[in-house]
Amino acid sequence: MPDFPSRQQRLHILLRDALIQQQRRCAYCKVPLSRSTATADHKHPRCRDGRTSRGNIVAACLSCNRAKGDMHEGAFYRMINRARPIPGTPANILLIWAARRIWRRTHQACAAIERRVRAPDVPTTHTSSLRPDSLYGQETSPT
Ligand SMILES: [Zn+2]
Repeated sequence: MPDFPSRQQRLHILLRDALIQQQRRCAYCKVPLSRSTATADHKHPRCRDGRTSRGNIVAACLSCNRAKGDMHEGAFYRMINRARPIPGTPANILLIWAARRIWRRTHQACAAIERRVRAPDVPTTHTSSLRPDSLYGQETSPT
């Protein structure tokens, strides 16, 4: 009789749990994921003795999972979290870097809007974060 649960069944359960914990977004680029588009990524890669265990599995889109390959999670985060990419960075990594940056700026803008909606009488000094042009890091003078 086979061991229960099998490695594949355990991976399926861990991926489902990671998807819920990550609010159905890719751990790296933050693109929305579903059960059919999510892949299980080993933060510490299997080829470097990473285990298929809770805490080492994150839900990732296929593009991020492939781009990360056998890199450790920390090394991959350092590539996609840079303020500016290193010249010569592969195009697939640049796309992940850009998606993550857009998500972060959008998330910050939404959080600022939510704070203003919840406390409309509190004067804010951070209105520049609400301007659409600030999402792309291009400051323009107010008209
Ligand atoms: Zn991704």
